[in-house]
Amino acid sequence: MRRSIIVGLVAATILCGFALVSRQITPTQAQTDSNTNKIKVITSFYPLYEFSKNIGGTRAEISVFTPFGVEPHDWEPTAGNLIALTKSNLFVYNGVGMEPFVNKLVDSQEYSHIMFVQASSQIKIDESSKADPHVWLDPVFAKSEVNVIKNAMQKADPANANYYENNTNNYLQKLDELDSKIKSELSNCKKDKIVTFHNAFAYFGKRYGIKINSLSGIAPESEITANDLKNLINYIKTEQIKVIFAEELIDPKLAEVLAEETGTKILTLSPLEGISKSEQAKNTSYFDKMQENLASLKEALECT
Ligand SMILES: [Zn+2]
Repeated sequence: MRRSIIVGLVAATILCGFALVSRQITPTQAQTDSNTNKIKVITSFYPLYEFSKNIGGTRAEISVFTPFGVEPHDWEPTAGNLIALTKSNLFVYNGVGMEPFVNKLVDSQEYSHIMFVQASSQIKIDESSKADPHVWLDPVFAKSEVNVIKNAMQKADPANANYYENNTNNYLQKLDELDSKIKSELSNCKKDKIVTFHNAFAYFGKRYGIKINSLSGIAPESEITANDLKNLINYIKTEQIKVIFAEELIDPKLAEVLAEETGTKILTLSPLEGISKSEQAKNTSYFDKMQENLASLKEALECT
């Protein structure tokens, strides 16, 4: 009985991985307005787009490579993306292995006129094991990324340096407020452990004292063995975990099977790697998503 459940879970994992690679990739949201003197900034995926947009305001043209609604881990740019890149001034990316395609571009003569900006460059990252790229989920690290992007924009467009500075100061203040809010709202909780889909929340967990156990590794498509699942099921039961977290860009099938097996409830915890088309239409911000995550965490950790 137990064996057949595990085999079923592994089969679901394989299906889930397949769903990931076969998901249709739609064209980039690149803006095509080329009749302005605004600097053109291309970002790799959602949080970098969001940060850059808030710094650049109305004076920089910001677009994003990975279409919203598509999982960015191991995403590859299209030929159209690369043509757009040759016409841009800055390329803003996270780094730490999140965009493996970037190294080739940095080394290429074709893009030698582009300023490549690694937003995570000022964050001290433990590279001892497989490095974890998910720095944007920690508001304090997000501030560091925002500062790096701001410095690059000021360098590329010194005429608007003060404008970028003011926008950045406003945004950093909001990140400070978010950090304080998370600290205070997670200060009185019965539990300190959560189970997530992929291992995206290590920095967040370290910042706010939450222990995280994940179904898969740093990237959502990492291989999950039957033994991993068995261990996780035991962990959920031993620790009396009542909520497991799924995420919006991943097929929830595996989480559903796991929830059924362990009698847990499924909530969403967004790694903010992308937002849905409907969220995009509503102008859903980084802060909106972090608030939603905070509400889910408070329920899982039984905070008062
Ligand atoms: Zn991730």
